[in-house]
Amino acid sequence: MQEKVDIKNYCLQELKEIFCANNFIEYQASQVFSWVYAKRVEDFYSMTNISKEMRLAFAEKFYFSKFKIVKKELSNDKTEKFLFELKDKDRIESVFIPEESRATLCVSSQVGCKFNCKFCLSGKPGFKRNLKISEIVNQYLAVSSSVAPSKITNLVFMGIGEPLDNFSNVTKAIEIFMAPSGIGFGKRKICVSTCGLIEGIEKLARLKLGIKLSVSLHSADEAIRTKLMPVNKKYPLKELSKAVKDFTKYEKYPITFEYALIHGINTGKEDARKLIKFVHGINCKINLIPWNKSSLEFNQPDSMETESFCRELKSGGVFFTLRKPRGQDINAACGQLAASWS
Ligand code: SF4
Repeated sequence: MQEKVDIKNYCLQELKEIFCANNFIEYQASQVFSWVYAKRVEDFYSMTNISKEMRLAFAEKFYFSKFKIVKKELSNDKTEKFLFELKDKDRIESVFIPEESRATLCVSSQVGCKFNCKFCLSGKPGFKRNLKISEIVNQYLAVSSSVAPSKITNLVFMGIGEPLDNFSNVTKAIEIFMAPSGIGFGKRKICVSTCGLIEGIEKLARLKLGIKLSVSLHSADEAIRTKLMPVNKKYPLKELSKAVKDFTKYEKYPITFEYALIHGINTGKEDARKLIKFVHGINCKINLIPWNKSSLEFNQPDSMETESFCRELKSGGVFFTLRKPRGQDINAACGQLAASWS
């Protein structure tokens, strides 16, 4: 007997191709897709607009993977962290962040991470493997049914892993999230965050998905950024700047630079001036995030440090927002996700 395949590992186009290759009717791929992602039905027997004979044939070919939530933690600020155990016992986390006008789900894209940013716990144990398409999509499906009737309105790839290092699976999962006959996320409601992988940014620009791009910058000084983010050695600021400028030619909306304010490291006047110079001519906004409490070898900036950095940016005419870290008390803030594997 042929081994069954997980139906959630295919975007709609691929599903149609599989249906054709198996002599199924192509449009039934769209029907099944819509049952799974729009109506959230995960057994063929309930797909009542498909003949019984075809439902049996599909059930012989496909199965539905499903995520079980191993642990849920609720923060004082209502941020919720979800821990999932994968089939091979690897563990990943997702974070649900409700706000007044929207609710964001932050998903993981890899088990571990190769890039070892010094302020990030996710990369500490190293890299294990890429997540499958189904493992990305299942984070959304499991959290969305857990938080119902609240609705997830925005999706960010800012959890464990570097999404552009798992390019194919991440972009196919995004196609699933955006398909109007399925979940139907608007393109501007999805954001991919990268530590600055140039080839990935270029590839993403060429795909023209219309989604948002966020770049973890954290310093516009070559030496400081390399210290914080070793990836800067391979992809220095000059190349990064060119890649994001090119990206904004393909996608006509501002990209976001994430900048964690870390006490005594990147918060001086000179750091602000370098940042102003770096973003000059780029259609962008800057998210300043005061470093979340004292963790790893880094410390939270004091209020004077933060204020003077903001003042400097303001005087440079740069558009920025000062963000409040969310979910610190449950280790769900940026750089705090640390699910590990066996
Ligand atoms: S910040 Fe992102 S790229 Fe850097 S180590 Fe953490 S997960 Fe990896």
